[in-house]
Amino acid sequence: MKQVYLKNVSTLTLDSEKCTGCGMCTNVCPHNVFSIQDNTAVINDKDLCMECGACEKNCAFDAVHVKSGVGCAAGIIYGTLRGTEPTCNCSGGGCC
Ligand code: SF4
Ligand code: SF4
Repeated sequence: MKQVYLKNVSTLTLDSEKCTGCGMCTNVCPHNVFSIQDNTAVINDKDLCMECGACEKNCAFDAVHVKSGVGCAAGIIYGTLRGTEPTCNCSGGGCC
């Protein structure tokens, strides 16, 4: 099943000028956000990104950035750890 989160809220950015096309981001992304086309990474669907941070941590060329620790995934994790309802506060209404 294809999971899609809130539209146009992901902080994910890709700098194609720095990308070498090594493919590491395609290996580590759990949601297949990236693919390699013409030796450069491209974002297939930014709205699939759960801001886990794996791509940024594993890109050796500083080509990808994302603000991890926020968003729906973080809201669910923090809620589970705290025993509270998950919320990322992005809409103030508990969207997670
Ligand atoms: S890990 Fe970085 S350099 Fe490698 S393909 Fe992905 S964005 Fe490009
Ligand atoms: S932050 Fe996670 S889900 Fe988003 S593009 Fe990077 S690896 Fe994929």
